[in-house]
Amino acid sequence: MLEHVDMIIVGAGVVGLAVAAELSRKLENPEIMLMERHPKFGQDTSSRNSEVIHAGMYYPPGSLKAKLCVEGNPLLYEFCDLHHVPYQRLGKMIIAREESEISAIEGIYRQGTDNGVPGLKMLNRSEIEALEPNITAVAALFSSTTGIIDSHKLMAQLERSAIADGVMMAYMHKVTGVARSSTGYEVKFLGPDGREDELACTWLINCAGLYSDFIPAQLGIDVAEAGYKIYPVKGEYFSVAMAKSKLISHLIYPPPLKSLKGLGTHITKSLDGRARLGPNVQYVEEREDYDVDPNHLEEFYQAARSYLPFIEKTDLQSDMAGMRPKIQAPDGPVADFVIRHETERGLTGFINLVGIESPGLTSCLSIAKMVGRMVDGN
Ligand SMILES: Cc1cc2nc3c(=O)[nH]c(=O)nc-3n(C[C@H](O)[C@H](O)[C@H](O)COP(=O)(O)OP(=O)(O)OC[C@H]3O[C@@H](n4cnc5c(N)ncnc54)[C@H](O)[C@@H]3O)c2cc1C
Repeated sequence: MLEHVDMIIVGAGVVGLAVAAELSRKLENPEIMLMERHPKFGQDTSSRNSEVIHAGMYYPPGSLKAKLCVEGNPLLYEFCDLHHVPYQRLGKMIIAREESEISAIEGIYRQGTDNGVPGLKMLNRSEIEALEPNITAVAALFSSTTGIIDSHKLMAQLERSAIADGVMMAYMHKVTGVARSSTGYEVKFLGPDGREDELACTWLINCAGLYSDFIPAQLGIDVAEAGYKIYPVKGEYFSVAMAKSKLISHLIYPPPLKSLKGLGTHITKSLDGRARLGPNVQYVEEREDYDVDPNHLEEFYQAARSYLPFIEKTDLQSDMAGMRPKIQAPDGPVADFVIRHETERGLTGFINLVGIESPGLTSCLSIAKMVGRMVDGN
């Protein structure tokens, strides 16, 4: 007989950590193990993103992305206040650089209102100039609930909460195989000593980010047919010299790309005041390619010049890259988050999270609550 725990969560990114914290808080004395292949949490997408707390106006009404982002935004601010996780509610502008872009941002305004996003307002030229005198824009949509967060401190707090409620953190545990058993699931993993071992569980929760198509495939799901195939989409950033970073005080985004492949090369600020441009959008083969191509400087410079006329090429420096775990094919329609208890496939006890790209950081707490409801039915 294999050793057994109630639940195994795979992946200690922000989502797996939030799920572990929520389930250990909510259930009575559950035995939960969080398995992570790296020696610590958040080494993949959760530490390679814009760290923006989104408001929720980009996503189609009725989608999980819209619902969980709108719910997750205030939950995250509350959590930060309670646990002293640093954040700034900077506010954000989605700008029209010319008259022809105004209808696009008005559309986002209407969609945001339909999604229940609070604090949205259309700004005219003089209102923009009062807030951001150095940018080029003829109109803008302002979102007052958009902010930035220290994602590392958020994850550290989620890990602390989970451990305090009894979660066993199993770092350097790489899941290598999963099989159905009569009582749940058998999970094979490579442990810290490099040896393969196995553990049984009743509940299996897939929060494996860029590799989240692996576990459903192991359980016999045809991932291409189910729409679970991961298309890694790289996003590079260039940082902006400090002197120029000070010339903006909000997050500023052009209109998003077609089919929401990305939000457009925007400018965000980190908590230390430095501005960053990015991320761009590149469908790639490799799931973990974090190099930034310095030859992309020209592309970033041109994108920035269209609304940040004070930027010079010499202000930009290649910075970092992140990988989006998209399930949207290169020419496919916008895809929603997959968060499913796979009972219809005969996989009771398997909760499957796939395609948790942006706004996954913003939505981590609302995603965790949704998983909690799947487990205990409330
Ligand atoms: C460029 C970029 C910008 C973004 N900007 C924002 C933003 O501003 N705001 C926002 O809300 N969202 C943003 N996002 C999205 C956000 O970062 C993600 O939705 C979120 O981090 C996903 O968290 P996760 O825990 O699901 O995945 P991850 O952080 O990738 O965690 C998954 C974990 O699973 C582990 N794992 C995988 N396979 C195995 C295995 N076999 N065994 C054990 N462990 C395994 C991995 O090691 C990893 O630690 C951005 C994403 C990108 C790429």
